[in-house]
Amino acid sequence: MNNKQDQNGSNKSPMLYFIILSLVATIGLNYLLSFLMSPQKKEIYYNEFIQMVEQDKVDSIEIKSDRILIYEKNGTQNGGIPEYIDGFSEQPSMYYTGYVNDPKLSELLNEHNVKYKRSLDENNIFVDFFVSWIFPILLLYLFFGLLMRSMGKKMGGSGGIMGIGQSNAKMYMENKTGVTFADVAGQSEAKESLDEIVDFLHNPAKYMAIGAKQPKGALLVGPPGTGKTLLAKAVAGEANVPFFSISGSDFVEMFVGVGASRVRDLFKQASAKAPCIIFIDEIDAIGKSRDNQYGGNDEREQTLNQLLSEMDGFDSSKGVVILAATNRPEILDKALLRPGRFDRRIIVEKPDLKGREDILKVHIKNVKVSPEIDLHEIALATSGAVGADLANMVNEAALRAVRMKRNVVIQDDLMEAVEIIIAGKEKKDRILSDKEKRIVAYHEVGHALATALQKNTDPVQKITIVPRTMGALGYTMQMPEEEKYLMSKDEILDEITVLLAGRVAEEIVFNTKTTGAANDIERANDLARAMIAQYGMSDKFGMAALEKVQSKYLDGRNVPNCSEETQTQLDNEIIKVLKEAHEKAEKLLTENIEALDRIAEFLIERETITGEQFMNILNEIRDEKNKKEDTSEES
Ligand code: ADP
Ligand code: MG
Ligand code: ZN
Repeated sequence: MNNKQDQNGSNKSPMLYFIILSLVATIGLNYLLSFLMSPQKKEIYYNEFIQMVEQDKVDSIEIKSDRILIYEKNGTQNGGIPEYIDGFSEQPSMYYTGYVNDPKLSELLNEHNVKYKRSLDENNIFVDFFVSWIFPILLLYLFFGLLMRSMGKKMGGSGGIMGIGQSNAKMYMENKTGVTFADVAGQSEAKESLDEIVDFLHNPAKYMAIGAKQPKGALLVGPPGTGKTLLAKAVAGEANVPFFSISGSDFVEMFVGVGASRVRDLFKQASAKAPCIIFIDEIDAIGKSRDNQYGGNDEREQTLNQLLSEMDGFDSSKGVVILAATNRPEILDKALLRPGRFDRRIIVEKPDLKGREDILKVHIKNVKVSPEIDLHEIALATSGAVGADLANMVNEAALRAVRMKRNVVIQDDLMEAVEIIIAGKEKKDRILSDKEKRIVAYHEVGHALATALQKNTDPVQKITIVPRTMGALGYTMQMPEEEKYLMSKDEILDEITVLLAGRVAEEIVFNTKTTGAANDIERANDLARAMIAQYGMSDKFGMAALEKVQSKYLDGRNVPNCSEETQTQLDNEIIKVLKEAHEKAEKLLTENIEALDRIAEFLIERETITGEQFMNILNEIRDEKNKKEDTSEES
């Protein structure tokens, strides 16, 4: 990330507001203080004061630089003796008069027994000024600053005191992203669509000459981690133009209007740097459809409206292209998607086998590897993984190589990394009791056997009963021989049987049911439900769509699309499918109980066995059986 800089426009008006505010507050404070600090005082004439002295009404006086404070005798309880505490008397009533240079005063005072003194601790004018003016302002400034900062933090802004209303969103500008299409593996369709934008940014005149208008914006749509952000950067890198990026959620603040002003700011700064790319990540944060049922959100709507009008307003011939990314395109406001705005939609799919291999190749370039590694095998084992997973995997493999004190990454590291992504790290310190270990072993071998004994399943790659950090006590890894894009009904049914076979093995051998099967059961249920409600694979409902997927790119939950009555029937149908699969698994395992026992014992001893070892034992048992049958037939 070179040339990254925070874009912070400056804005003077908040400072002015602040100064006025604190001045008013300080004046008010001073007034209040002087009111509170001084007892009831009454100004009298100087000759009235002399009169009071002559009438022996005065107990003591205090001469200040500009006035004389007069403490009356009250002649009652404390006999008129004032108690001076830090220069103040506790006398209840008090008068004062202006200071008059009267040489005869001391004489008169002595005559009438009036105590008098000149106040010594007359405050320095500077100290006075500081205490009553500068200090409160500083205090207010500090308080204000803290308040703003904590607010700013909460809102995700980076601004301090002066940040009200200004664009302190995390907008980044990179002059050179340093990413090119070569860094984005696979995704050739997406790259093709973006190529045109790159070309346009290179040479807008070519398009203008013929009168062709470039799309103003393109929306990158796809599941998280598939490389949308990466692609946007690559477009900027290829076109060699500045890249402005901001996340949709950074627009939305607590104060209405802030988001809108940020949008204005963004477009102003970007058009000054044209040609360039504006990238709005996670645009669904502001682009949510405005007619949702939970009442409006003024701030978000204003921000969206501002974005819409900016997109309409700017002249695309200047060479500003807006890219946005989302994984929930279905909730976006229709206005965003209409022609002239984000009229291009570029789907960034999860990578297929070849795509995964290519992504692995891109990332493996950064680590030292031994020549024997086989990325094709890794790609096969990682069906469903996205680019971010694969990048992470390569890194995990490199970390493991370091842990093992090797200086290159070998295939084992990569396979282990695949498992880490699927099941979490090995958790060697979790000790299972012997009984538990046996149950887990039988459970896993149950899965593996059901896999091997059915036709429409992927071969077993590895079985292990070493606990994993993500909660699995053991697991069976299957490895497809080739990438599949379709799943048939038979394959789904076999898969459900495999999932249930773990628990079935527990039931057959130990006559017990454990919690270890929870995840299997959940997955089996989901599969059965999808099979009936979404894939139209049941005889009862035919091809009725009983459920809809809500956010396709986020593996979102399914919402019912049928009456409650039908849902009840659907549930019954699911239960039926699961029951049948249960029976099938039971039949498979009881018929092969010898294999189950032998492989489980082997697993308990070794803790991990490979698919090859597994198949060897299974074939041995088959051979023995065949021989037995042969001999019995002969006899
Ligand atoms: P998204 O924005 O779609 O959620 P990102 O673009 O942030 O995903 O991808 C995250 C990381 O995953 C990237 O930084 C990159 O390392 C890796 N990655 C994802 N897709 C690819 C790809 N097609 N080729 C190479 N690396 C990829
Ligand atoms: Mg992203
Ligand atoms: Zn299981």
